[in-house]
Amino acid sequence: MRRAPRLAVLTAAAVLTASAAATPAAADHRPPGHGLGHRTPAANDGWASAEGGTTGGSEAAGADVTTVRTWDGLREAVRGDHPKIVRVAGDISAMTGTDGAPLECSDFADPDYDWDAYVEAFDPGHWEGGEDGPLAEARERSYEEQREHVLLTPGSNTTIVGLGDASISDGGILLESVENVIVRNLAVHDSYDCFPEWRGSDWDAQYDNIEVSRSRHVWLDHLTLTDGDTRDADLERVYGEQVDRHDGMIDIVRGSDLITVSWNVLDGHDKTMLYGNTDSNDHGDRGRLRITVHHNLFTGLTQRVPRVRYGQVHVYNNHYTHGPESDYSYLYSWGAGVESGIYAQNNSFDMGPGIAPEDIIHSWSGSALYEEGSLFDGRPVDLLEAYNQAHPDDRLDSDVGWEPERHGKIHPTRAVPHLVPAKAGAGKLR
Ligand code: CA
Repeated sequence: MRRAPRLAVLTAAAVLTASAAATPAAADHRPPGHGLGHRTPAANDGWASAEGGTTGGSEAAGADVTTVRTWDGLREAVRGDHPKIVRVAGDISAMTGTDGAPLECSDFADPDYDWDAYVEAFDPGHWEGGEDGPLAEARERSYEEQREHVLLTPGSNTTIVGLGDASISDGGILLESVENVIVRNLAVHDSYDCFPEWRGSDWDAQYDNIEVSRSRHVWLDHLTLTDGDTRDADLERVYGEQVDRHDGMIDIVRGSDLITVSWNVLDGHDKTMLYGNTDSNDHGDRGRLRITVHHNLFTGLTQRVPRVRYGQVHVYNNHYTHGPESDYSYLYSWGAGVESGIYAQNNSFDMGPGIAPEDIIHSWSGSALYEEGSLFDGRPVDLLEAYNQAHPDDRLDSDVGWEPERHGKIHPTRAVPHLVPAKAGAGKLR
């Protein structure tokens, strides 16, 4: 008696499915984010769209489109320079072994390394400098072991996309000497350095959530980057200095070029985005470091949002907040370094008590910065003029020597505090 009606229902469902397959609505039956890997930036979407554009692995098919659920699988899937799309499913920790079991810092430690002994040896109370010695070398070896495991190093022509709410944590992504890479719709949390180094006056940690080094044609879009469970305020202090565990969030260095950083959420971090890591031009930064930064949500960040050397950097429609609830201090947002050309348009700042318009810009031997359309706590403010009035001996000119030509729609600044939080970050693309 129950069979007939059931068959009838099944048949109706099959008919529905068949007819839906002929229409775009069929996409709704696929897992969230299924089609994302084949997408590329819009034709005019910032510097990543210039000089041939950025296609990542969008042309991959068949066996070169994979879905990964483990760190080991992810590391394997991004290898090589052939076009490939790698979909990340679920939450993956970089501190996991081949079998998926959790790893501890001690799993990477050299037999000769010991934290307590290291702290004792380098105590400024009795350390006299000179040779670094066996403990420093053991720390270096431990660091290299962890680095080899927790940094994801994709080859060229790669697209990495998260499915739904996907994340990686306890590691980072390093684009080293590659071309044409897209990373989208993914959270990257807590790129934790197990083996920070004492440098004589402070502690140094090495990992960035994302580092782009000697690489070009890169699109970083709809990412969420945080310090995860390792907040700076909770870090221990040794010799009176905070033992850092993180370096940058998105550092773009060593002559990297043609990059768009869009619709991301960067939340709670100190040294956020360094574009160009030396004044020397040793890596050929002059004429490169061309980067577009648009529609990002920047909350509770201490400094470098971004700090720029050499590059032509278009910064538009970003929303900056730093409320009293943040446990990260505030230094500045836009750092104008040597030969830098920041061109800022229509950014909004909702800042907490104690942060004034003249605090937004900081000059690191910069000479110019262009800025227009800024809103500060809801009011139009000329941030460059505010900076120059406060720093009469270190003024910045408004002529940066270039004007952006490649960009999507630049929204009225009043739309930014609503539009950007609603749409930026991982897990919002479907
Ligand atoms: Ca870095």
